[in-house]
Amino acid sequence: MRAAVLHGPDDLRVQEVEEPEGDVVVEVRAASACGTDRKMLRHGHPILGGYPARFGHETAGVRLDIGAHVLVGDSVACGSCDTCLAGRAAICRSPTWVLGGFAERIAAPEAALHGLPEELDFAGAAMAEPLAACVHAVGRGTDSRDVGVLGGGTIGLMLARLLVLEGRDVVVCDRHPERRAQAEALGARSAAQLGSHDLVFEAVGRVEAWQQAFAAARPGGTVVLVGGCPSGTTVELPTGPVHYDEVDVRGAFHHTRTEVDQAIALLAAGEVDWRGFAGETIGLEQLADALRAPTAGEARKLVVDPRQ
Ligand SMILES: [Zn+2]
Ligand SMILES: [Zn+2]
Repeated sequence: MRAAVLHGPDDLRVQEVEEPEGDVVVEVRAASACGTDRKMLRHGHPILGGYPARFGHETAGVRLDIGAHVLVGDSVACGSCDTCLAGRAAICRSPTWVLGGFAERIAAPEAALHGLPEELDFAGAAMAEPLAACVHAVGRGTDSRDVGVLGGGTIGLMLARLLVLEGRDVVVCDRHPERRAQAEALGARSAAQLGSHDLVFEAVGRVEAWQQAFAAARPGGTVVLVGGCPSGTTVELPTGPVHYDEVDVRGAFHHTRTEVDQAIALLAAGEVDWRGFAGETIGLEQLADALRAPTAGEARKLVVDPRQ
């Protein structure tokens, strides 16, 4: 079968590989791409292991054994480490990663699979992975009504939609007018500059954005950092707000199995309309160029259909 294989930084080749064996084999119908895939192509990533490496972690398709539609979850928590036992499976100390959605077929442990309603498109189902991370991030916040979201990429927009569904007053801050228009179509307000808010979500993943998010929290407020800065990065934290204003700073990483199922239900019900986040559908051969292309304008996710 054909698969996209990373051989080194910026060296992606579509090639014939051995058929996957063991576990459950799923024929991939849609694998959406995100900023993490761009990073993996450019610089590699700790969870890839060594080269050559398969990637693609937002994957939906059909089980070859029973024909059921499934989302291939990108990780299985171990269930036995300290954080899993404490009910924090999103930050499991030794998860099994399930990567390789950018291929015709993928093998996954049964525990990674989530059943899908047949009426949900595969492209929409694949987006349950990033949406689940947003469900998790909202859970890391508070129930404040006044919310600012810094960054109008697909994660920022998904966060905004989830918060709007909860009846909150949400302002998405992004310098791109196209993304502000997308935020407004989701029921949020928008701004080019971040104001002050009781609850602030950072969805950019850059040092300056983390600092802007700290500065935007009102006294007694909470900042949730959703965008990951490169590992090893140090960010200076202003002591005043954290101490004298009791601003809480929290990270949000990944998701749990339950949150993935919640995301699937939201997509299936149309409460989160995946079409608003879907970009071009491409084949494996176009993936490298598409991941290298600069992102501008509307925030939309590439969708790979390996049968194309
Ligand atoms: Zn992703
Ligand atoms: Zn664990």
